[in-house]
Amino acid sequence: MPKLKGSCLCGAVAFEVVNGFDKMFFCSCDQCRKITGSAFASNLFMEAEGFNWLSGADDIVTYQMPGRDISKSFCRVCGSGVPWSSGDGSKMTVPAGALQGEPEVAEKFRIFIAEQPSWSSNLDHIAEHRGFPS
Ligand SMILES: [Zn+2]
Ligand SMILES: [Zn+2]
Repeated sequence: MPKLKGSCLCGAVAFEVVNGFDKMFFCSCDQCRKITGSAFASNLFMEAEGFNWLSGADDIVTYQMPGRDISKSFCRVCGSGVPWSSGDGSKMTVPAGALQGEPEVAEKFRIFIAEQPSWSSNLDHIAEHRGFPS
């Protein structure tokens, strides 16, 4: 199966994955909004055996939320979200925005939409621009 590469913004952390993801979650829960600083997290889920770090594993910091099964890994240089492994190491969660190229995903889900803020609903109705509005 073809592979996709991914990295953080500064390039210190880089990885390669088999391009065949089981699931993609767009999560609007309170924790994912805080952790991303955005309207929702866009995470891909895969078996860990299809994943390889290419560089920068030493530059990764992981935050584990006390008492919850919520974690976030990021590059200590630029702060970009990077992949992290599940507790038992069998699965990887990959932030979709870290990838170069199009992920092949079996199933996509929008989850915790009850926690979605009003400012991020109905985005299809907002004017679109290829760059900054002129
Ligand atoms: Zn970085
Ligand atoms: Zn969430």
